[in-house]
Amino acid sequence: MTTELRDFSRLCIHTITTKPWSLAEATQGYSRAGVAGITVWRDALEPQGAKESGRMLRDSGLEVVSLCRGGFFPAVDEKGRQAAIDDNKRAVDEAKEIGAPLIVLVCGAVPGIPLAEARKQIADGIRTVLPYAESAGVKLSIEALHPMYADCRSAVNTLGQANAMAEAIDSPWCGVTVDVYHLWWDPDLEAEVRRAGRAGNLLSFHICDWRTPTRDLLNDRGLMGEGCIPIREIRGWVEETGFSGYNEVEIFSDAFWAMDQSKFLEKIRDAYLNHS
Ligand code: ZN
Repeated sequence: MTTELRDFSRLCIHTITTKPWSLAEATQGYSRAGVAGITVWRDALEPQGAKESGRMLRDSGLEVVSLCRGGFFPAVDEKGRQAAIDDNKRAVDEAKEIGAPLIVLVCGAVPGIPLAEARKQIADGIRTVLPYAESAGVKLSIEALHPMYADCRSAVNTLGQANAMAEAIDSPWCGVTVDVYHLWWDPDLEAEVRRAGRAGNLLSFHICDWRTPTRDLLNDRGLMGEGCIPIREIRGWVEETGFSGYNEVEIFSDAFWAMDQSKFLEKIRDAYLNHS
């Protein structure tokens, strides 16, 4: 049984959702709109650096929910894999600096590397970074991506695969992220959400909608209610596991990025209450 969302106390927005805004504009805009949480994408940190970003975020009163994104572990050679490890450690440093307790991993894939081999490299990469993340007090969360991204973004494409990887790694510092955009089609989704909950691995929850037709494979995500994803039903499964974290709005959309972002934020608030 899924309850209706009545306020914005569990609403988190990803900075990429309002990509035209700087981090300062996003923190001010979200705070003004009564949004409670923020997930920060690394590109939003770049102009002023992690330290100054951390100060801005603490001043804003917003709760920093996570840092996006780490991952991209597979590479054709050892040098590339090491570069990925180094970059993930930098992400851990940034997460610590801005007070993010979690890094979402877009795990990576490389055309030509068999998916099974890529998954092995992903698990090895997470295991290598994990002690560093643990010492910083930062969790790593495996986000399964829709199979249309299996060529170059992620070899982890179902929640079942993400769960199996997190269970094999078997650390309280590693879990999974459920993103409705990537997972809504999966007939095993309900069972896998329960499995993640039982294992204590369900760390975060991302929402948006699937447009028909999808005009761009990356940058045409819909606002909640615009598409065919049963968001409220999936949120119900997530909450039945005991998850009480944020509903994170993560929308890549050329159409919404072209809008006045304050007006877009109004639309997000409305869609959140009525369609999430
Ligand atoms: Zn996501």
